[in-house]
Amino acid sequence: MNADLTSLRSEFPLLAAAPQLHYLDSAATAQIHRAALDAVVRHETNRRANVMRGTYALAEAADLAFDQARQTVARFLNAAAPDEIVFTSGATASLNLVAQAFGNTLRAGDRVLISVAEHHSNFVPWQMLRERTGIELALIPVTADGELDLAHLPELMGSNCRLVAVTQCSNVTGAWTDVAAIVTAARKVGARVLLDGAQAVQHGPQDVRALGVDFYAFSGHKCFGSGGVGVLYGRSELLAAMPPFLGGGGMIGEVTFADTTWAAPPQRFEAGTPPIAQAIGLAAALDWMMTLDWAQIHAHEQQLCGLLIEGLQRIPQLRLLGPAAAASRAPIVSFDIEGLHPHDICQVLDSRNLALRGGHHCAQPLLAALGVEACTRASIALYNDEADIRALLDGLAEVRRTLT
Ligand code: PLP
Repeated sequence: MNADLTSLRSEFPLLAAAPQLHYLDSAATAQIHRAALDAVVRHETNRRANVMRGTYALAEAADLAFDQARQTVARFLNAAAPDEIVFTSGATASLNLVAQAFGNTLRAGDRVLISVAEHHSNFVPWQMLRERTGIELALIPVTADGELDLAHLPELMGSNCRLVAVTQCSNVTGAWTDVAAIVTAARKVGARVLLDGAQAVQHGPQDVRALGVDFYAFSGHKCFGSGGVGVLYGRSELLAAMPPFLGGGGMIGEVTFADTTWAAPPQRFEAGTPPIAQAIGLAAALDWMMTLDWAQIHAHEQQLCGLLIEGLQRIPQLRLLGPAAAASRAPIVSFDIEGLHPHDICQVLDSRNLALRGGHHCAQPLLAALGVEACTRASIALYNDEADIRALLDGLAEVRRTLT
């Protein structure tokens, strides 16, 4: 590990307390950074009060901290204004919010284009919308490597496409999406673009304006913050034109028996008490992320990913899913070993303090396209090192000894 990165592991309380643990499941949940945990504890200890309701000093301090958290997220995403940031309970809630609220502006016959590589969170909400409104749902296929096959994008969009909703990076293969090609094609037919950034955010700050997307969704627990909080970025004019999804406190202008008017965004989409401490913890994690040298971290993650791929390629009967080149993917590596169930593989690895996920990874359409029912996934984050990769390769040698 590069000299400057060696101390990173000690900044994560769980990893610092468990030196024997090889945590290779950051695509499911990244470990929480000390700054995020401290910010949550500080908030709950000193400023715990509801937000946007109280007029006493404590409530005003909570309001201020919550507002600042929104500003930090806006900076992390390079949004044009903090009001473009909606706090949700996670990426799933953010994606459902678009499917419900933006979805309510669509009509039967309008098309939504998603891809085979989507996590179920960006698949099922669109099927539900199709059921409710009669929209057309179309699918971008994947290549044999699991990358989005954009060869027939214009035909797939047709002239009635209103939204393209795709993942920025696959949670199974790590393959990055060519967002620029999608945005360019979408603009030609006036379609909006929703990017599921759940897997991208832990690999560095994002720039929604450079990406050119209209909506962007992610979860706090995947970028070193707390669970229970997520973000939906939406261009302000789009949010302003959308009806609310959930009704309740905080999202109204005025309520009478006859009628209710809506608050302006982002409050229109934050009915009820928001995840206040979690948002403040997330902002602390993002603030910390914005101090890091991401070129150095990417080089480190890619080096580990390359080492792992090289080692896996030497294992007989092992099929690597996704692009073979480490540079074409985020450091997420899934594989299938002929005749072995991923749950059995993960159990043997667990006995050697290796935490990996086996299963369908909430991406059954992608796994079906790749010809497997389940697979084992190792996901690498900035706190991993060569010892983790060596332990995994040794663990897989043990798997072959004991299970075959
Ligand atoms: N999208 C992708 C690509 C994911 O990998 C995940 C979670 O693994 C989600 C969406 C859903 O995230 P969450 O469960 O935090 O809502």
